[in-house]
Amino acid sequence: MRLTVEQLTGRDESHIEWRGGIGLQADCWEAFDALQARAAAAGFDLQVASGFRSFERQRDIWNAKARGERPVHDDAGQPVDLANLDDAGKLDAILRFSALPGTSRHHWGTDLDVFDAAAMPAGYRLQLSPEEVADEGMFGPLHQWLDVQMQAGTAEGFFRPYDEDRGGVAPERWHLSFAPAAQDCEALLEDGLLAATLEVADLALCDTVLQRLPELVQRYVLVPRAPA
Ligand SMILES: [Zn+2]
Repeated sequence: MRLTVEQLTGRDESHIEWRGGIGLQADCWEAFDALQARAAAAGFDLQVASGFRSFERQRDIWNAKARGERPVHDDAGQPVDLANLDDAGKLDAILRFSALPGTSRHHWGTDLDVFDAAAMPAGYRLQLSPEEVADEGMFGPLHQWLDVQMQAGTAEGFFRPYDEDRGGVAPERWHLSFAPAAQDCEALLEDGLLAATLEVADLALCDTVLQRLPELVQRYVLVPRAPA
């Protein structure tokens, strides 16, 4: 599906099929169902924690962080004091763990955060933390199984855009992307249609964002990856 700019930037959700509170593109759901069935056969209860996210939701998170109303953390999990940073430094600190509104892969309906419901103790509150998805963490076995599927080409088209630290977004082992549809979105983003969206979006740090936009998209969204 070729998305419009409004769909690509999360301001229109007509490309999304909802199941309960979770939204993905229809072909992404179909591939997920197949992966979920394969996972079930291996003893995992593969579930989606988060799929589509709107521009407004991402902007609210972004603005709250930029204004110091919501904590920003460093790689060690410690709160960062944004007051000590210039605008470029603030941008990099926020982007480490939060997408720039309009550029989140979660706008596309092709990307999702997953967990193994069968491995979670009763009453546990899901965090999507590095500890949970480490090999020795509660979701480690699921992710090791997913790694094997991806290497074998049996992951139904899913890959990990944030599998390792490339100096942009911190590693997110829980984040999967449906390659056939996500590639179309990546190609559209390169057209540079984002600036017009962001200019009118009441976005904190907007001037600095616009100055650095091509670099930010390259570094935080279009993550380079080895050919499958
Ligand atoms: Zn994610």
